[in-house]
Amino acid sequence: MKTCPRCESSIDDEARYCLECGAPQTEEAAEELDEYVQRQAQQVAADSGATDGESGGDGSDGGDGGVAAFVPTEELTDREQLWRRGCYVAGYGSIVVALTLVPQVGAFVLILGGIAILPPVRRLTAEPLGSPLKREVMAGLYAVLALLGIALLVLL
Ligand SMILES: [Zn+2]
Repeated sequence: MKTCPRCESSIDDEARYCLECGAPQTEEAAEELDEYVQRQAQQVAADSGATDGESGGDGSDGGDGGVAAFVPTEELTDREQLWRRGCYVAGYGSIVVALTLVPQVGAFVLILGGIAILPPVRRLTAEPLGSPLKREVMAGLYAVLALLGIALLVLL
């Protein structure tokens, strides 16, 4: 028999955990307990993260701030996916068209607009501003730059 270093009750030499206080008695048992606690902590973190995502992703434009960045793509609503796809198409489309017209001033404005509407740019604005710009803002910025670019292309 030996005694538990924590509660000093007598325990079996072969015991891996103290029957009185549950303290691990071998290096292995201590590691096992450590891993178990970490797994539990991760589980709790994952559960609360998923709950956050659900409460934030109710489809309204107001609640898609920081939380949305951690929501995997599959969990985006159809509307959001459509929006993202539209942004990519409009952005890349504008850039590709503008590149063919590049020596002209309007082309550079059009490229700026195309870059502005790409979804990753919206995410980048979250860094300095605290929360990402609303998609309406990006779409508006794109519309203004695109119109300006086209106007310059036509007029110059
Ligand atoms: Zn003990």
